Amino acid sequence: MNTFAEEFPELALPATGEVFPNPQVLVLNEPLATELGLDPQWLRSPAGIDFLTGQGDCVALGYAGHQFGQFNPRMGDGRALLLSEHTDPHGKNWDIHAKGTGRTPFSRGGDGHYPLDAALKEFAFAESLHALGVPTARSLAVLTTGGTVPRRRLHPGAIGVRVASSHIRIGTFQYAALLGPSVTDRLTRYALARHFPAGSSPLDLFDATVVRQAELVANWMRFGFIHGVMNTDNVAISGETIDFGPCAFMDYFATDTVYSSIDTRGRYAYAQQPAVMMWNLARLAEALVPLVDEGVKKFTERLQRYQPQYGAAWDKAMAAALGAEGCAEQLLGLLEVAAPDYNALLAGLTPGEVPPGLEGIPGAAEWTERWSALDPQPRNPIYLPRNHGLQAALVEAEQGDIGRYLLTLEALRNPYEWDDKYEKLGLHAAVPRAEAEFTTYCGT
Ligand code: AMP
Ligand code: MG
Repeated sequence: MNTFAEEFPELALPATGEVFPNPQVLVLNEPLATELGLDPQWLRSPAGIDFLTGQGDCVALGYAGHQFGQFNPRMGDGRALLLSEHTDPHGKNWDIHAKGTGRTPFSRGGDGHYPLDAALKEFAFAESLHALGVPTARSLAVLTTGGTVPRRRLHPGAIGVRVASSHIRIGTFQYAALLGPSVTDRLTRYALARHFPAGSSPLDLFDATVVRQAELVANWMRFGFIHGVMNTDNVAISGETIDFGPCAFMDYFATDTVYSSIDTRGRYAYAQQPAVMMWNLARLAEALVPLVDEGVKKFTERLQRYQPQYGAAWDKAMAAALGAEGCAEQLLGLLEVAAPDYNALLAGLTPGEVPPGLEGIPGAAEWTERWSALDPQPRNPIYLPRNHGLQAALVEAEQGDIGRYLLTLEALRNPYEWDDKYEKLGLHAAVPRAEAEFTTYCGT
């Protein structure tokens, strides 16, 4: 089933996956497959592998996007395919989408391939975000292709299969807008029917997207998550985190933290994310303006609601982390001065004790006293995909030993439950990182 491709031949070009030397399922998300009503055994069978590698009638989705602020009118799935839409046993619709399936009409100079470490990284972060309650696309499977992918070095080739409630992005609306208001109008109706209550208007779609994205970014900020490449093609209307290739959880607190090797100017640094999302939402508004009378005025008014909504969502997210309301703003000031390991600080919060990393910092004792008096019940993860721990698992997996990676996934799926068997994985939030520098080249 592919309702999107049927309704939008101009936004979804027919394409088929490359035939690879030896495609094999390396990691299958069995709990997710079962939730979706997909048979894990079938997915592992030759017919299942044909499906997962796009050996059928698939489409490459078209979209435009602002990449680091520059408009690119024709991006699209250059190394990915929408395999199918799928209805789960509860009647909810999902896109099943595979990345690394070879070249498509949108590939430009690219090879259409996906290195194994990047596919496994995406899987691990998706499981982690999901377990933390942050809306995200999920990974269903990672396959090895039997081929190799040259990047900074030679990697085993992979296909990452993921599910999301759709792949309609701000960039999809930007692409539709270039094709004309009638396409935008149809896309809006389709997106409304798929994601929003009946009777909604384009302004309702925008309002709801503003709320979802404000809440999403607030949750990223709570956990110190840096998406890495918040181009408008990487922002889903559904409010799920997507396309987080060069992402990371921040180690040492600094508002200008960037992990992505390509973000040389810090456009998508940690503390930029809320403002960048508002900028991206303005691009969505531009695409929708022609559909509404006095559109410029109305969308501009609606866009202004983002900041208060983000502020309220951040207060709520931080109140959950600290286990008390009204203390986050002041803590932020201390974090900026002390630059402690952010997640270690949260994981180590204990009433009556100055948080780890803030010892001796002016104002820290006062903050601790005020916070402790509120009888706080902080709740923060024990396990996160800490950069060095995950990196080590990815290196071993590429060398053919998947054991550490599988145990890593298990820990990330139960981030609030201590277990001694996860001791040596380097995922503990509470253990401050020894070295400060880390750059991610993943996702390329
Ligand atoms: P991303 O950074 O994954 O969001 O990709 C940005 C754009 O570049 C999208 O249009 C991708 O489809 C395209 N792209 C990225 N890597 C490749 C590749 N290896 N081959 C073809 N297209 C690619
Ligand atoms: Mg993208």
